[in-house]
Amino acid sequence: MLLLRAHLLDAPVFGALRSIPDGALLLDGARIAEAGPCEDLAPRHTGAEVRDLRPCWILPGLMDLHVHLPQYEAVAMDGLELLPWLETHIFPSEARFADPRAAKPAAERFFADALAWGTTTAVVYGTIHAEATDAAFQVAEACGLRTVMGKVMMDRHAPEGLTETAEASLSESGSLLRRWHGAAGGRLSYALAPRFAPMCSPELMRGAGSLAERHGAFLQTHLSENREELAWVARLFPEAANYTDAYARHGLLQRRTLLGHGIHLDGAERAAIRAAGASLVHCPTSNAFLASGIMPLRRWLDEGLAVGLGTDVGAGTSLSMWQEMAMACTASKLRWADARSDADRPLRPAEALHLATAGGARALGLEGVTGTLDGGSAADLVVVDPRVPDPAGRVEDAPDRVLSRLLYRAEKAMVKAAVVAGRACHGSLG
Ligand SMILES: [Zn+2]
Repeated sequence: MLLLRAHLLDAPVFGALRSIPDGALLLDGARIAEAGPCEDLAPRHTGAEVRDLRPCWILPGLMDLHVHLPQYEAVAMDGLELLPWLETHIFPSEARFADPRAAKPAAERFFADALAWGTTTAVVYGTIHAEATDAAFQVAEACGLRTVMGKVMMDRHAPEGLTETAEASLSESGSLLRRWHGAAGGRLSYALAPRFAPMCSPELMRGAGSLAERHGAFLQTHLSENREELAWVARLFPEAANYTDAYARHGLLQRRTLLGHGIHLDGAERAAIRAAGASLVHCPTSNAFLASGIMPLRRWLDEGLAVGLGTDVGAGTSLSMWQEMAMACTASKLRWADARSDADRPLRPAEALHLATAGGARALGLEGVTGTLDGGSAADLVVVDPRVPDPAGRVEDAPDRVLSRLLYRAEKAMVKAAVVAGRACHGSLG
């Protein structure tokens, strides 16, 4: 048993912070056995090895629910909207993963950086290449991050070197799924990843949906991000009532489906997503970067949609979920600023933390597994030094003030450790 002494902070309930200033977290291997005030826990667990991490704070590890590993090295190339940006910057970057030797070092850099930012769960897109995706899974297995991943699937309207047949795509996805879904003691999972409707045939989508259903795997795709994309989908799927329906009628709207973006959804689409128990992933940095729009996050949340946050690197500019939380707040303030309508009231940092932790876990169907500091959860933690983002290097006690600084002035130096299932995958526990 290991007893970590620090200020504990999490957000199990949307809108509220839970804070224990002189707290203790009792770890029993991969799990949190108990959390509470140190004066309560320490006397009852005198046999535990104590690590006094003060003045650091312990938060639940952050969850990035939408990110593209092979795009990391093409990150932050400004100037284009979604479709020309894919052609110009992204597809050439993804094409390099045809060589699996390029994939492994890229995956090592990617996962190491995500951990260095305190991300402990990531939902990742690979490329169409099965070998490169397999190599990325091997890296994820070794580095310890909780990872949901899948090779991208696209069998039409993609560049020549990045187009596969539906048959090959489904068979390679199936092999990877059987190898990796549930591997590493359940820390690794597979997500079927039809890229987005314009680049997937009906046959490919149907096949991906049935594979996911049969194996209880995740599904991830993009939805309603960019106006030009929306018009393209309407042309390609004239029989569909809307973009969401193009997925629904091909079996892709499932309980374990993660839909990236969802900016321009109408009421019928939102109702269909809710009814299916699928989740949206809000990627505000990416949405600003590609001039896609500002998701009406507050409205979608008030309607009861399950929403997590994602960096969407390479259109997101960093693997920092701190930045993503800050951007979610910033984008919502900009949306609110014009009409000042209560329906668009800005997102607060405490709410953003919930979306990046417990809310992300809900969106993934992993409530109780990760996302809070509750006893019984996996020991997925981030240890931060609140002095780093404070210009005067002070330690404050007020959780909302500290959290605000962690979000808006995040730097890697403040992340002292990222712990997944009790193992320090980045930094160390004292
Ligand atoms: Zn994306």
